[in-house]
Amino acid sequence: MKINTAEFVVSNSEVSKCPQERLPEYAFIGRSNVGKSSLINMLTNHKSLAKTSGRPGKTQLINHFKINNNWFLVDLPGYGYARVSKKTKEVFQQFITDYFEKREQLVCAFVLIDIRLEAQAIDLEFITYLGEIEVPFCIIFTKADKISKTKTDSHVAAYRKKLLANNWEEMPPYFVTSSTEGTGKEKLLSYIDEINTE
Ligand code: GDP
Repeated sequence: MKINTAEFVVSNSEVSKCPQERLPEYAFIGRSNVGKSSLINMLTNHKSLAKTSGRPGKTQLINHFKINNNWFLVDLPGYGYARVSKKTKEVFQQFITDYFEKREQLVCAFVLIDIRLEAQAIDLEFITYLGEIEVPFCIIFTKADKISKTKTDSHVAAYRKKLLANNWEEMPPYFVTSSTEGTGKEKLLSYIDEINTE
């Protein structure tokens, strides 16, 4: 898929105020600083559609971007650093869980994971939560340019192992990306395109 138009539509913190238009929706979420804004800008060929920042936790709203007048890309707030003792509901703000539990247009969530790091408890909790509420999701490994191809493969394998140890039957669809090098862009957009045309 080629992205011809990407326009900002609305930012808000209430699911009821999200666009009424019934276009398929794809949500991007991950820990603060994982590279979400950079990835969104890379996918949409924009320098600053999503606001990048070295400062964690900056985007605290649900941001809707309309792509090719055909689907919504949804930029969700980055979640915090590992606070393992808290339950998902307490760690993730109510409006984020509301979004996942109530937004009927949501087709797939993309959970961003920094390829360099070992599996983080908060990400695993979030993935488990998505499984519990039966939201389809994919994993996007980010910042692949920061490690070698061999390390990338072993980190992906380790992640798969971790998920299987956490009672997942299989690794969900995943993508390895680098926003600085454009890695993974075509595959990811083709995946969305395929679902949209099913
Ligand atoms: P967000 O908080 O998840 O939106 O993360 P940002 O997109 O603002 O990125 C956080 C930091 O990581 C910034 O300093 C980015 O320049 C850097 N970054 C993001 N993606 C990549 C990538 O693919 N490769 C490299 N080398 N750096 C990245």
